[in-house]
Amino acid sequence: MISVTVIMLDREFFLGFIKIHILFHASQAPISGKEIAEELSRHGYILSPGTLYPTLHRLSEQGYLQRTSKVVGGKVRKYYTVTEAGKKALKEAKEKIKILVEEVME
Ligand SMILES: [Zn+2]
Repeated sequence: MISVTVIMLDREFFLGFIKIHILFHASQAPISGKEIAEELSRHGYILSPGTLYPTLHRLSEQGYLQRTSKVVGGKVRKYYTVTEAGKKALKEAKEKIKILVEEVME
């Protein structure tokens, strides 16, 4: 029971980090959900598809990400790219991260 609560709390707690990470990679090149999941796990964020896809969906609905479809090996894959609003949010987040890092990493 307790461990379930901890996982839920962590997920919510780190969701902002995860969103910024997604926006960052989507600003570098169009990225698929699978690639995002791999990249996040490389940094220690293990996300279930039940968390990742609703997050991507929300970021798209809120206008931060643009979804496009591409056929890869006969399969339709969704790719995500950052929008102008997403770039702006990312720029703002970077400034806030810098200030936060300077303070907490002293
Ligand atoms: Zn990364």
